[in-house]
Amino acid sequence: MLNIVLFGPPGAGKGTQAAKLVEKYKLTHLSTGDIFRANIKGNTELGVLAKSYMDKGNLVPDEVTIQMLESEVNKIKNPVGFIFDGFPRTTPQADALEKFLNSKDTSISLMLALEVAVDELVKRLLLRGVDSQRPDDQNETIIRNRIEVYNNQTAVVADYYSSKGKFEKINGIGAIEDIFNAICLNINNYN
Ligand code: AMP
Repeated sequence: MLNIVLFGPPGAGKGTQAAKLVEKYKLTHLSTGDIFRANIKGNTELGVLAKSYMDKGNLVPDEVTIQMLESEVNKIKNPVGFIFDGFPRTTPQADALEKFLNSKDTSISLMLALEVAVDELVKRLLLRGVDSQRPDDQNETIIRNRIEVYNNQTAVVADYYSSKGKFEKINGIGAIEDIFNAICLNINNYN
């Protein structure tokens, strides 16, 4: 199985690239942010809980997030592989994912990290907030908090995969197609 973690701060382009990877490699895309938003829309108990964190730009607690992700993976019958987008965001999440995948005789193949400078991220997210219904994209203070949360709690997850020789950086600035080609090159080198 080919299991990719698409990594990077909010606004780095993970969702855009994930959609292209799904098409090319026939992987299952799991975005924890999308799953939380679907739960908010459906007004589920999980959605109500997640919203209280998401609206401030803070992380949803690990236990809740891990349980949700594992149940989403379990729903997929005979997967070719997964693109994890927005997960893992903390070291306990990375540990849990490793154990969970190992229990299924598989593991993360590669983490690909999209790198984009902070000012560009803020610009992109504010622009996305104009069209999307996402409250967390519409307020610069919340956007900056999300980037800070990424730097303080999430960036360390790169070390987790780096220490296993499973980490590659990708320049996330430029044409979508060029960034996609750089990602594919890394995947094909891995394969
Ligand atoms: P995203 O769509 O990935 O930008 O995520 C939007 C929001 O959902 C984040 O700011 C968090 O509040 C929450 N979220 C998404 N993924 C996770 C995760 N792996 N751990 C904790 N919170 C998450």
